[in-house]
Amino acid sequence: ASISVQELANRLKKPAAELIKKLIGLGIMATINQEIDAEVAEIICADYGVEVQVKIEDPEKEILELLEQEDSPEDLVARPCVVTVMGHVDHGKTSLLDAIRQTNVTASEAGGITQHIGAYQVEHNGQKITFLDTPGHEAFTAMRARGAKVTDIAILVVAADDGVMPQTVEAINHAKAANVPIIVAINKMDKPGANPDRVKQELTEHGLLPEEWGGDTICVNVSAKTKQGISDLLEMILLVAEMLELKANPKRLAKGTVIEAKLDKGRGPVATVLVQNGTLQIGDAIVAGTAFGRVRAMTDDKGRQVKKAPPSMPVEVLGLSEVPEAGDVFYAFDDEKKAKQLVQIRLDRKREEELKANSKVSLEDLFARIKEGEIKELNVIVKADVQGSVEALKQSLENLSNDEVRVKPIHGGVGAITETDIMLASASNAIIIGFNVRPDSNARKAAEKEKIDIRLYRVIYDAIEDVKAAMSGLLEPEI
Ligand code: GDP
Repeated sequence: ASISVQELANRLKKPAAELIKKLIGLGIMATINQEIDAEVAEIICADYGVEVQVKIEDPEKEILELLEQEDSPEDLVARPCVVTVMGHVDHGKTSLLDAIRQTNVTASEAGGITQHIGAYQVEHNGQKITFLDTPGHEAFTAMRARGAKVTDIAILVVAADDGVMPQTVEAINHAKAANVPIIVAINKMDKPGANPDRVKQELTEHGLLPEEWGGDTICVNVSAKTKQGISDLLEMILLVAEMLELKANPKRLAKGTVIEAKLDKGRGPVATVLVQNGTLQIGDAIVAGTAFGRVRAMTDDKGRQVKKAPPSMPVEVLGLSEVPEAGDVFYAFDDEKKAKQLVQIRLDRKREEELKANSKVSLEDLFARIKEGEIKELNVIVKADVQGSVEALKQSLENLSNDEVRVKPIHGGVGAITETDIMLASASNAIIIGFNVRPDSNARKAAEKEKIDIRLYRVIYDAIEDVKAAMSGLLEPEI
């Protein structure tokens, strides 16, 4: 932090020449326009009997704070919930999304061609529900790693003839790490081998106790093929949404998240955005990440041109200067100058950050961070070659928890360390411990980019000892 001599003189209501004299007294040959740093300014102020408050300046935060003003309660109205579908491969995520879309084309829209813009809305009992069209916890967590909180409810699809599989467990852990409520859709009920009770039994082993067995996990039997149970599922989504009391203020400038973006040959950058608060309107100046623009046109998921997009509505937006990234937060501005300023600040910061070191948790600096009170929980992801080792490691790590820091295994699984593990680690600020497994090449690249600490071991005892040592500041640096 620094301040010019002139500015300081103005604030103190003293002649600049007098300040310059004092500075010379301190051995500083300053001119009127010279910037002096905070410590020197403090000495000068003390001389005048004035106390200074050094304000850490963060121009980006200042702009965002103006935009993030809290809504007054009377402006808040209910908004539709936003749902992500997750589950094991081939259990029917895509089919379920398609089935829901088809059963809910209302008469007036019947002629409309549904467009895949990355998200869509359906109406059930007169209430809207927004579905994100990219199923899977990978996309979900990649967005979260970029700071986007989009999903209100997760639908966990489990095939009734196949049961809980590794990616089902991953999905459960990813949803839990994000604190998103889970509704289970037991799919493929039309199949002869369907066994929903077995699925429920397996779910209990992963912390989801079905309602009918005294727990609080809602399970709905469905078939994406015959459309059996789809309307029950929508019913349950609305029920959970109601309990969440989701609200937004349609009267303010829009804020939301980029769901998908691409460069279209004819139309330029095209971004599907989900409005999360406020109303987005044609002509609004918007910023998404480092992309700036004015909303030139908006298209909904039925391919219709719209002029306004209220909260929870996904729309495809034309008019951005460049292609933003999925997961970027966007803001609408009434002041174009401020919008451009924000983009410039971000571009400058990006450059700076590329130079700066990481701030993600690592075993090496764990102790220092615990001491500074920065860390109270150490999130850990455990990958191993066999389930027995995963469990053993998770248990032993958890047992290391002490009064100062809780060791929290947020996910464990069998197999190589994947890019998805890295994204979860990044979103949850976790370290990854691999036992008799290695990261694949994509994971390695992602870990480097996201600055994730991966530790590989061949002896469980060594892993435990390292974490223990790190917690007490005794870890030998890696050579
Ligand atoms: P995803 O990988 O989870 O997105 O799964 P898909 O939606 O691609 O479905 C995988 C396979 O299961 C496809 O061949 C679907 O036709 C089939 N499938 C999905 N849902 C059902 C269902 O309810 N009943 C039956 N019999 N097959 C289904």
